[in-house]
Amino acid sequence: MAGGSSGAAAAALAAARAGAKVAIVAPRPYLGDDMAGTLRLWLEEGEQPDTDLARKVFAAIPEKMRGAPFTYKADRPSGAIHKDTAPPSLLCDGNWEDPARHSVQYEENVTIELDLGKVIPVRGVEAVVFKGRDYAVARMTVVASADGKSWRPCGKASVEDNTLRVPITGEARYLRCLFEKPANMKRMLLGEIIVDADSGPPKNIAGRFAYPLQVKRVLDQTLAEAGVEIWYSCYATDLITDADGKPAGIVMDNRAGRQAILAKVVIDATPNARLAQAAGASVSEFRAGPQNVSWTVIATNGPGAKARKLPVGFVGVLQTKRDFAVDAAKTAWFEYSLKLELPDPSWAARARIEQAVRDATYNGSQLYSPETAFLIFPQNVLSGVPGMLVLAEQARPLAAMRDGEQLGSVAAEQARKAGVGTGLRVAVPAAVSPSRGRIMEPLAPLRPVENPKHVTQPERDLPVLGEYEVVVVGGGTAGAPAGIGAARRGARTLVIEYAGGLGGVGTIGGIAGYYCGNRVGFTETVPASPTEVRMEWYRRELRKAGADIWFGCSGVGAVVDGHRVKGVVVATPYGRGMVLAPVVVDATGNADIAIAAGAKYIFIEEDYALQNSHVPLRTPGRSYVNGDIPATDDADPLHVRMLMRSKLARHAHGFDLGTVIASRERRRIVGDFTLDWLDAMNQRTFPDTIVLASSDYDSHGYQIHPYFLLTMPERRTKFWANIPYRCILPQGLDGILVVGLAMSAHRDVMPITRMQPDQHNLGYAAGVAAAMAVQANVTPRAVDVKALQRHLIEIGNLKESVLTDRDSYPLPPERVRAAVANVVHEYKDAEVLLAMPQMARPLLQAAYQKASGMNKIMYAHVLAAMGDPTGVPTLLEALRDNKIPVARSSRANGGRCGMIRAIGLTRDRRAVPLLLELAKSKEARGDFQLRRSLALTLGRIGDPSAIPVLVDMLGATDGNSPTIADLLTACALYRCGDAEGKAARWLQNCARQSDGTMARLAQQTLSGKKR
Ligand SMILES: Cc1cc2nc3c(=O)[nH]c(=O)nc-3n(C[C@H](O)[C@H](O)[C@H](O)COP(=O)(O)OP(=O)(O)OC[C@H]3O[C@@H](n4cnc5c(N)ncnc54)[C@H](O)[C@@H]3O)c2cc1C
Repeated sequence: MAGGSSGAAAAALAAARAGAKVAIVAPRPYLGDDMAGTLRLWLEEGEQPDTDLARKVFAAIPEKMRGAPFTYKADRPSGAIHKDTAPPSLLCDGNWEDPARHSVQYEENVTIELDLGKVIPVRGVEAVVFKGRDYAVARMTVVASADGKSWRPCGKASVEDNTLRVPITGEARYLRCLFEKPANMKRMLLGEIIVDADSGPPKNIAGRFAYPLQVKRVLDQTLAEAGVEIWYSCYATDLITDADGKPAGIVMDNRAGRQAILAKVVIDATPNARLAQAAGASVSEFRAGPQNVSWTVIATNGPGAKARKLPVGFVGVLQTKRDFAVDAAKTAWFEYSLKLELPDPSWAARARIEQAVRDATYNGSQLYSPETAFLIFPQNVLSGVPGMLVLAEQARPLAAMRDGEQLGSVAAEQARKAGVGTGLRVAVPAAVSPSRGRIMEPLAPLRPVENPKHVTQPERDLPVLGEYEVVVVGGGTAGAPAGIGAARRGARTLVIEYAGGLGGVGTIGGIAGYYCGNRVGFTETVPASPTEVRMEWYRRELRKAGADIWFGCSGVGAVVDGHRVKGVVVATPYGRGMVLAPVVVDATGNADIAIAAGAKYIFIEEDYALQNSHVPLRTPGRSYVNGDIPATDDADPLHVRMLMRSKLARHAHGFDLGTVIASRERRRIVGDFTLDWLDAMNQRTFPDTIVLASSDYDSHGYQIHPYFLLTMPERRTKFWANIPYRCILPQGLDGILVVGLAMSAHRDVMPITRMQPDQHNLGYAAGVAAAMAVQANVTPRAVDVKALQRHLIEIGNLKESVLTDRDSYPLPPERVRAAVANVVHEYKDAEVLLAMPQMARPLLQAAYQKASGMNKIMYAHVLAAMGDPTGVPTLLEALRDNKIPVARSSRANGGRCGMIRAIGLTRDRRAVPLLLELAKSKEARGDFQLRRSLALTLGRIGDPSAIPVLVDMLGATDGNSPTIADLLTACALYRCGDAEGKAARWLQNCARQSDGTMARLAQQTLSGKKR
């Protein structure tokens, strides 16, 4: 099933219910794009859902997640920063998205007692909790009672995806939930407690419409239950045929590359029926001219006669700190009906309509806009081809689902009768353009497959969809400003964005608001919120400067000539092609294009330390919804599906789900220069600084830089980092600049450089540099950086001093000598020593020899963090005697675990007996940080004597439901020799799981060196 509309979903469902094995390939990260993506979610008068699926889609929207109502009390007062109300209510108010606003703080273990009002059957208790630098919850233990006197134990749970769940059987009126704080954390932030029980039928707040999230959730769950394999964020781009030319499958393109799905029957629900056309179906003439275009928004101050007010009630927030001031009485859904010219069947022409709609309708009071306008492609498929069915677009979803259902049954019937073809190959369209370079796209399977099959693709070129001077891929936090910078500087610019609006994490990603960052120059002109205002600002600025924008498209590859990137491969809703430009700005935040072009990159390192992600619930009027879920590989379709599915299920009552995954850590290129954490600590200057970034240390994960094995900055200390131009130039590639989270930097400095104000300014600078390169006819590497700096000074981004700045490294010897003396005072100046290891090492070794007591331990620790084993015996003694130096900060790093991990950097085998003793201790089983440190260190040392203990630590787990602690243990076991192959089996299982970050580390470990 190629396409993700409601009709396509109905077809897939019907085929699966008729016994076929079905896969559906949807370009959006959800199904039902003709409804949820266009906000065409209402039933017209006289329309009645007449299929099973339609009835489900338009069923009552659950008002809240299945929770039963309750009151509660706690056995201790809530903490100062996040106090509960009196009487307590925040843990059952239906809000748990934002730790800043929706949490209750406890500094010690706390028991919350719930009263359900009467004895009812209960299925379980779920708690949503938050995890951050100094807050986390270790465990929840639940006991239940019918009378409040005799209690029965129900079980314990630890945190998974911010949630703890204890299943319960039987009835209860009272539930006591004991929340325990990990020893190394200061506090716990609880978000919500949900009692899973029958609380009566959900109240119908829908009437005759659905929320976008309702559509997405119902389609996902119904199809998944029927066994349909759903592929999100994948474009069906090519047809596969057998030796007789009969359809035999499709090729899908996504951010991870290009894969084949084989099938006996293909249903083509793409707007322009491109697969059917490739199969030889004849089509009617394209009807050029004005087309009916529908555009639905939620807005206050209705636009008058130009739009129809829809029979849909207002849903949204009325006003919070960063949100719109909403007058609920005036707020409504409006449908604009426009006639707009579509001169030809090209994607570029369709993309122009998308901008024209927004130009014509935006009125400043818009609270929520769709991903795309609704428009039926004006061309019909005339004749059928065996094995190929075409699902035409329909103006109304009920009709689409009806058609889909019928076609799905036909497809299943045809599949039953069809045989399996041989001689499979990708059908190549007749029209090819002259060669422009090599097309580079990843072609590996998404997960390891034994004996993978391959389908032949005859050599061919791709259609050229556009030619520009600068093409920016990703119109997010850094990308939209990059487009503005390039276009304002006079370059013919195109911005390609996957979402239906600009701004990335800072708009659709739920974070329309600044936190820290150096708000100067260009950034000062960007409205921080509300979401719609910010999105429109970017769009208008691009339009004013003459740039083109393509929404709903994914950059999936690169056009490369030698080492020179000359364009990008793009998957659009109308098909795949290339866009050529002498300079590409990769602003995907994940280096999608640079990596496809062959750039070296770093993502998951052996420490498996990754910043958390977030997928926001979106509500009209609300602009800022922060959150933390485990790290995501957001270019991996399997991970995206897992994430979207869990969010849809968890937030059944929500309005919509963001289409941008707000991940804090992604793939980073290896650039001409890699900014280091120590560069920020040491205030390093450069001759080619283009941004001065600033933030406190806002980390949502662990650190791995050796500095953090010694100490940790206080959370609120403000840091500054100069970002040199070389950080956005990928090593070995020309014609491409990489901005956003994918710039070349050590992951531990990213908390300082990743804030939106700084990423705006970085993107803007890259855009200007791209235009300068085009205009001077040089590669970006040869741009006159001083001229770029002068421009950035003029607009207030930088200070004059950058013009004369030099590299301030190496640091003067007297600073290093002073640091050797200072470092024994809570690791003061460790940043100087680690930055200058050549100079510092002999001085530290000498100081270590002379020192005694705690000073000796600290010198040994610093040396170990540099990989120098001189002081390992001292460290082992200190660990045995529990003599742990005090660091400047009480935060989680450093201390005992920091010492253990520093020993790992020395790879000194003398440490193994003590490490094994610790690993066998009861403490190591319960203390995640300790277990993690031991596993990492034992893995680094790689001594086979650790095998039995590591096997024991891994216990009965098999990698099919991996946890981080087990993953690190399995990696360590593998590196130590894995005598019986347990780790290899474990890692092979893990490498097939949906969690793309864990799967990657497993795969990397398996392909790395075993002892
Ligand atoms: C949960 C969270 C909370 C945060 N809180 C704050 C805060 O309060 N204040 C603050 O200043 N900073 C905050 N940050 C940091 C900041 O928002 C991010 O670091 C920054 O937005 C990242 O910018 P980017 O341009 O790299 O990525 P993005 O903003 O994600 O932009 C990337 C864009 O590229 C698009 N894209 C990706 N791949 C492709 C492709 N192949 N083809 C086409 N399009 C593609 C995406 O759809 C997206 O629009 C937060 C970050 C997160 C994740």
